[in-house]
Amino acid sequence: MKTAIYWFRNDLRLLDNPAFTLACRSVDRLLPVFIHDPAASEQTRWGFARTGAHRQHFLADTLADLRLQLARQGSELIELSGAPEQVLPALATLCETRSIFCETISAPEEQAQLVALRAAGLHVESVWQSSMLDPADLPFDVQRLPDMFTAFRHAVEKAGVLAPSPLPLPRAIPPLPALPAMLPQRYPGLRVAAAIADQRSSFPFTTAAYAGGESAALAHVASYFQRQLVHTYKATRNGLSGTDYSSKFSPWLASGALSARSACQSLKQFEAQYGASDGSYWLWFELLWRDYFRFLHCRYGVKLYRAQGLADTTLATPGHHARSFRQWCLGETGEAIVDAGMHELAATGYLSNRLRQIVASYLIHDLACDWRAGAAWFEAQLIDFDVYSNQGNWLYIAGRGTDPRGGRRFNPQKQAQDYDPKGHYRTLWSKA
Ligand SMILES: Cc1cc2nc3c(=O)[nH]c(=O)nc-3n(C[C@H](O)[C@H](O)[C@H](O)COP(=O)(O)OP(=O)(O)OC[C@H]3O[C@@H](n4cnc5c(N)ncnc54)[C@H](O)[C@@H]3O)c2cc1C
Repeated sequence: MKTAIYWFRNDLRLLDNPAFTLACRSVDRLLPVFIHDPAASEQTRWGFARTGAHRQHFLADTLADLRLQLARQGSELIELSGAPEQVLPALATLCETRSIFCETISAPEEQAQLVALRAAGLHVESVWQSSMLDPADLPFDVQRLPDMFTAFRHAVEKAGVLAPSPLPLPRAIPPLPALPAMLPQRYPGLRVAAAIADQRSSFPFTTAAYAGGESAALAHVASYFQRQLVHTYKATRNGLSGTDYSSKFSPWLASGALSARSACQSLKQFEAQYGASDGSYWLWFELLWRDYFRFLHCRYGVKLYRAQGLADTTLATPGHHARSFRQWCLGETGEAIVDAGMHELAATGYLSNRLRQIVASYLIHDLACDWRAGAAWFEAQLIDFDVYSNQGNWLYIAGRGTDPRGGRRFNPQKQAQDYDPKGHYRTLWSKA
């Protein structure tokens, strides 16, 4: 009788989950677990908790939906709390197994967890599955990833690389192994404080249609393409406010409730039915950016986390000006478009791509603050926090990624004039 633990990480779904499907096929008894790591709530060196209330709320909804999906297939989700590298070996002993299945996450902390589990004698089968394209299909070794996104995109397009088809639901989920009635470190099911609904939100996750979890994700993707919004995506994607100017796939992609391959399949089916357009191409283009930041981690790993990033080591370490940083976080810089963006972020956990660029640039290039503090604030606030995309975009704007060119400075007044000419956005978010 083969038994294993399936450790859900940022892949909180059953559809198109190759690691989970592999586990289901390989063993007779399977224990699906999610671990609430206290490190996720610790204070950062910048003086705030690592995970804010919005992201906690979105995660709680996502897990509730996953529990439901597993129950429908006769299984369960066991939630535990503690450091995964301690909880999993103890749990494995209780289940009389040494076998763990999970997804591969190519960021330093997540990789260190797997190293620790293996050092503890566990057999960990991990599967790379968060990108749209399979790294094995790229026309180059991922260690030779081009340093410019455009070169990467051209190579991918020239080689005609396609996203693999998503996997269906596992045919059956093996039953749970026998477990002691009192599991140590069982998650006490802490109630996350109810999120405050803000009518102004562009991603109103307190409503059923935008809730965390696979069910809402799949319904949203279907509705997005049914309403043919993708045709206008290129023209509207720089919008600042509203639910429809961009796809709003990111919170579900980041939690893994939606796979990038499923999103891509829906896009391709749409194109087959209604024809391709600038809009549909541009959505693929943005999903490719998401992949690029993933592959960048595979190539450069921990170097992306240094103060200087990938830039020349003679580049000065960025300064940290606690007062300016605090004013930025609170939306009290005196620059109206920046303050409006920071109010929206704090009130809703979401911000348009345009505003993310504007506020990040302002912190780095106008306030001369440390980009890592800004990245940490985004990590705490964003419901779509994704380690690869967040780190990659911050480095890019700071000019410390693969494509330095002195970084990207956005003139806030010009940006306000171009994207908020009548000041509607600034008025809407003049107060938090
Ligand atoms: C400083 C900064 C930090 C960011 N941090 C994150 C983050 O933590 N998590 C995150 O998912 N995105 C991040 N982004 C990228 C981007 O802002 C969001 O993905 C996008 O705004 C999400 O909204 P959407 O799903 O409607 O995007 P759409 O415009 O509809 O794009 C479709 C999808 O493409 C991907 N995508 C779009 N733009 C980018 C981009 N610039 N980089 C990587 N992927 C992209 C996303 O998965 C997105 O869901 C960041 C951007 C900046 C400038």
